[in-house]
Amino acid sequence: MAHVKVAAIAVAGLLTSAALLLSGTRTQFLVGGALVSAGVRLQDHLEPYDFVHEDATESPEQVWAEFQKQNELSATVRERFPRTAEHPMVALLVCMDSRIDTSELAGDTRGYYYVVRTAGSVLGPEEQEMLELAVANGVKLIVLTRHTDCAAEKAAGDPAMQAQYPTLTRGVLERDQRVAEFLARPLVAERISSGALLVKQVVIETGSEHLLAGFPTR
Ligand SMILES: [Zn+2]
Repeated sequence: MAHVKVAAIAVAGLLTSAALLLSGTRTQFLVGGALVSAGVRLQDHLEPYDFVHEDATESPEQVWAEFQKQNELSATVRERFPRTAEHPMVALLVCMDSRIDTSELAGDTRGYYYVVRTAGSVLGPEEQEMLELAVANGVKLIVLTRHTDCAAEKAAGDPAMQAQYPTLTRGVLERDQRVAEFLARPLVAERISSGALLVKQVVIETGSEHLLAGFPTR
C-alpha cells in the first residue's frame, strides 16, 4: 500500500499547489474538500489501533495511550497551522452514531457549526437550552436530524432494552413533543416569526449522509 500513500501525498501536494496558484476562494474550498477526502481514504480501511496491536486485544489503558498519542500528533499540527475562528451560523442536532461525520454532513471543515449530539437525537430540556443559546449567539439555521438504522430507535422498540435504558427510551418516544416544546420557546418562536431563524427537520441516510425528507412532527 506504500505506493498508494506516496501517490496520494503527491496528488495532495499537486492539488494544494494548484489551489494556491488559482487562488479563487471557491477553488480553494473545493480542493480543501478533496484533500480531506484523500485523508479519509488513506485512514478509513485501517483497523483502529492496529498499528499498536494486531490481535485486537488492547486493554483500555492501551487504547487510552494510543488516543493520547494521536491527540499529541494532531495538536502539534494544529499549533503549527492555527485555525481561523469562525462565527457559527448553523446548529445541528445529530445522533451520537459514529458512522455520521458532521464535517462530511456539512461538506465543510470550518467552524461554522454548533453540534449537539445525543443518542437518537433526543432533545431534552438541556439540549433545548443549548440550541437556544446557539440562537442567542446568532445562529440563523437549526437542522434537527434523525437517521436511518438508528440503534437508539431500535432500543426504544425492544422490551429488554427499554427495561435497561428507560430514560433514553422515553427520550426517543417523546422526541416529537420535545421538538414542539423547543419551537415554542419564546426566543426561538420570535426569531422564527421574524424570519431571523429557520428550523429544518431532516432524516440522514446513514450510508451516504444524504439529507432525506423531514421527519413528521405531530
Ligand atoms: Zn442513532
